[in-house]
Amino acid sequence: MFSDPTVLSISQLAESLKKRQISSEDLVNSFLERIERINPEVNAYITIDRAGAIKAAQDADNRLDAKQGGPLTGVPIGVKDLFCTKEVRTTCGSRMLHNFIPPYESTVTSRLKAAGAVMLGKTNMDEFAMGSSNETSFFGVVKNPWDLTRIPGGSSGGSAAAVSAGLGVAAIGTDTGGSIRQPAALTGITGIKPTYGRVSRFGMVAFASSLDQAGPMTKTAEDAALLLQAMAGHDPKDATSIDSPVPDYMASLNDGLKGRKIGVPEEYFATGLSTDVASVIEEAKKQFQDLGAELVPVSLPTTKQAIPTYYVLAPAEASSNLARYDGIRFGYRCENPQDIKDLFTRSRAEGFGSEVKRRIMLGTYVLSSGYYDAYYLKAQKVRRMIADDFKAAFTKVDLLLTPTTPDTAFKLGAKTDDPVQMYLSDIFTINVNLAGLPAISIPCGFSRDNLPIGLQLIGRPLDESGILSAAHAYQQATEWHTRKPVL
Ligand code: GLN
Repeated sequence: MFSDPTVLSISQLAESLKKRQISSEDLVNSFLERIERINPEVNAYITIDRAGAIKAAQDADNRLDAKQGGPLTGVPIGVKDLFCTKEVRTTCGSRMLHNFIPPYESTVTSRLKAAGAVMLGKTNMDEFAMGSSNETSFFGVVKNPWDLTRIPGGSSGGSAAAVSAGLGVAAIGTDTGGSIRQPAALTGITGIKPTYGRVSRFGMVAFASSLDQAGPMTKTAEDAALLLQAMAGHDPKDATSIDSPVPDYMASLNDGLKGRKIGVPEEYFATGLSTDVASVIEEAKKQFQDLGAELVPVSLPTTKQAIPTYYVLAPAEASSNLARYDGIRFGYRCENPQDIKDLFTRSRAEGFGSEVKRRIMLGTYVLSSGYYDAYYLKAQKVRRMIADDFKAAFTKVDLLLTPTTPDTAFKLGAKTDDPVQMYLSDIFTINVNLAGLPAISIPCGFSRDNLPIGLQLIGRPLDESGILSAAHAYQQATEWHTRKPVL
């Protein structure tokens, strides 16, 4: 029926699957073939679950034959390797968990599987989701499908590269400070971070629990709506999950932009923005106006406090979350320990990579007595100020529009020796996590050297519908999201 079904979106495929013009099993086989050919170079997947995927596809085909199932039934996706998947290895990109086979399933993956999605495998990521370039993975760097000498962004770089390179119809990522949106922007795909608490964190390997949130990485905003619909909702197994009904995202997808007020925060357009990103975003702003939106200048004065605040809070939470990997209760155990102290220290020294160790040291430091008030407590107060800034802006506007990243994908290795430069990659995304808000990144153009550029739309708490419909309206009028790298 199709010369290459791997280029299609979920909404396009769902129709053909339902009409039985294509079977899920054939589809899965097309993806597995493509993965076999392209993954050795791109390194988007850590684990391919060939047998599991074919079995799930056959089950989906049976449901579809019986006229059952929904839009995700039989659709092959990739899942970031920090969602616990029963009997499928879950490494979190770390040596610490390199052979961990979870005995249980995360809520996100179990909901997606219940909706009929087929998991092709587990995607590569920065170790414990710490990074912006996917260079800290124990399983090797991921390459950007648009230019194999460049990074795909991180930490969900494997998921982003998989979608961009056609190694999955869509993928699931997580975002603690930008890890869905930044790699989505740098690989030319769509990625949404929902409101904190909208999607259950149960069964996700924890990095910074007050910031972590899972979301879809897709070809279109429509596909993101379809996946989020299945993922979102209250979960008694996650005490921070929000107990409020999930709206029908498809029902509002065509709401359009007419009369919507979109705030443009001046701080995001100050120095530091590359000229290519600046000019592409200018064009996109005009397009939003043409589609009927009203652009309103706003100010978010605490923008520059976001990175330092995050790099106190996230490492503090990480140092606590990662304390469980001691070689006894959880994780890698060193060979021939001399005594218990040697076992603890050597297991952690050998099991964790250097970025993770840096975060643990930072985190334990800011939490230690004598420094707690000066760093951790202070950062909590600034976090509230950042959230208040957004709150004030949202009394005037419905959405905010910003660039997702200050620049396009950089060269592999360019920032590995300079953690602060690396941390600055998330300057436009991190404050959204600190405030707990939903935000989406969508493709909006290319640089002169043909690298994708992303635009971010930020919404009010729980207004996923608002950002999805705005993104959809833009994608109906533009074709940036349809461009694909040549591989
Ligand atoms: N790049 C940021 C960090 O290194 C954010 C990572 C993320 O969102 N998981 O912590």
